[in-house]
Amino acid sequence: MSNDWYSDFVNSGIGKAIAGNVGLPPVPKLRRWEPGQPLLSGPALLGTATADGRVAKVVRAVLAEAGVEVHEDPNAPVGGGSSTSKVAAAIVDATGLSSPADLAAIQGFLTPCMRRVGPSGRILVIGDVPAEAERPAVRAARRSLEGLVRSAAKEARYGATVNLIHVADGAENDLESTLRFFLSSRSAFVDGQRLDVGTVPGYTGSSAGTDWDHPVRGKVAVVTGAARGIGRTVAKTLARDGATVVAVDIPSAGEALARTANDVGGTALQLDITADGAGEAILSHCERHGGIDIVVHNAGITRDKLLANQDTDRWNSVIDVNLNAQLAINDVLMASSDDTGFHRGGRIITVSSMAGIAGNRGQTAYGASKAGVIGLVDATAPLLAAKGATINAVAPGFIETDMTAAMPVGTREAGRRLSSLTQGGLPVDVAETIAWFAQGASYAVNGQVLRVDGQNYLGA
Ligand code: NAD
Repeated sequence: MSNDWYSDFVNSGIGKAIAGNVGLPPVPKLRRWEPGQPLLSGPALLGTATADGRVAKVVRAVLAEAGVEVHEDPNAPVGGGSSTSKVAAAIVDATGLSSPADLAAIQGFLTPCMRRVGPSGRILVIGDVPAEAERPAVRAARRSLEGLVRSAAKEARYGATVNLIHVADGAENDLESTLRFFLSSRSAFVDGQRLDVGTVPGYTGSSAGTDWDHPVRGKVAVVTGAARGIGRTVAKTLARDGATVVAVDIPSAGEALARTANDVGGTALQLDITADGAGEAILSHCERHGGIDIVVHNAGITRDKLLANQDTDRWNSVIDVNLNAQLAINDVLMASSDDTGFHRGGRIITVSSMAGIAGNRGQTAYGASKAGVIGLVDATAPLLAAKGATINAVAPGFIETDMTAAMPVGTREAGRRLSSLTQGGLPVDVAETIAWFAQGASYAVNGQVLRVDGQNYLGA
């Protein structure tokens, strides 16, 4: 039993029958990642929109390495079955578009795919970056992909997702970790989204030799707010993926913090991240681990009030924890030594929120802080590129935590059901996305904000 009574009901024997008869929306069970799970659970269809496509061969190589059966004809019989047998993924190389007329080839490929992609399947469209095109017809065609993908995601069923990757000119060989994330069940709750690869110049790195089951092996990861909720799950997920975790939280959460640190075989640092010298305290604690590779700014608070009733103390506490503390810690990290401090090729991942993108009633302070996090990412990405490092953000939507369990029933049900996947996400969905940003192999993913929200209907 989950704490989502509606999902439990429509997935029960009798509930399924009643829901089917009266037309209640189903709640698909999403496939989630486990160590050793194959990249895809079945065959894939791979289409190319134009003869100028530059990513199909990269995709084919990744699928071949993962042992996936690949077909180019969307009506091909697969897996020893028929031309209607289910596939685990459909991928379109939509690079090289010269005008909107080229979009018809993508439609022609995807139309049969919409029925063929099975439960928790993946549809992935890979296109060029619109802003890199000068000619209006080319830019229009490239930009069209976003509307196509966001709409198709609202039509996909049984937990299948549809996402768009933009690949900067020359970045086609820097796609592997992104392809693996979006195709695998690590991205279970990322739906109807766009991610740009290689758009911040100056990145360096390689995915050669990556152990995809333990992609952060040997790395030291600091996770703030790790005593409970999403932070605790991030700590567990990074440890599962091979990192040594330093779990940070306020002293009053010391007992829970110690539990997290013990569970993941890491160390605990009791610290209020808003305290003077917090960045230095993190650096000095991590010296025993040989420095820092990954920092996850997860700690966050809400002090919800209508703006008409807001007071400045509450306002400042939200801005301090959710935004100022991150800015101050990042300054210390960036000024630290490459050897004993924040290492070259480091990763910073911060937690924004749907409220920072779409806004939320009663959350002006929280929304301001979480939108501020996006500005922080934008401005810090080029600074970190110079250090071979990256910064990215996740923007969770409705995630099943103590915070959302305490919401009034109506708000909670709306948060869950008004999304393409008709359910709340789990902390592990946010954690998997953070763990992917944290990989060394994600070196070309910089300055991105990715919503982990099951394509919640609130906001973009
Ligand atoms: P939570 O309240 O369960 O956990 C937050 C943790 O941060 C707590 O352990 C808390 O003690 C710690 N913390 C707070 N202030 C701190 C400080 N000054 N110094 C050190 N640690 C501090 O929250 P959660 O639901 O797990 O959320 C984690 C992050 O995800 C937050 O940034 C939150 O804004 C964001 N988020 C959550 C949701 C959701 O649906 N739960 C949605 C969007 C964004």
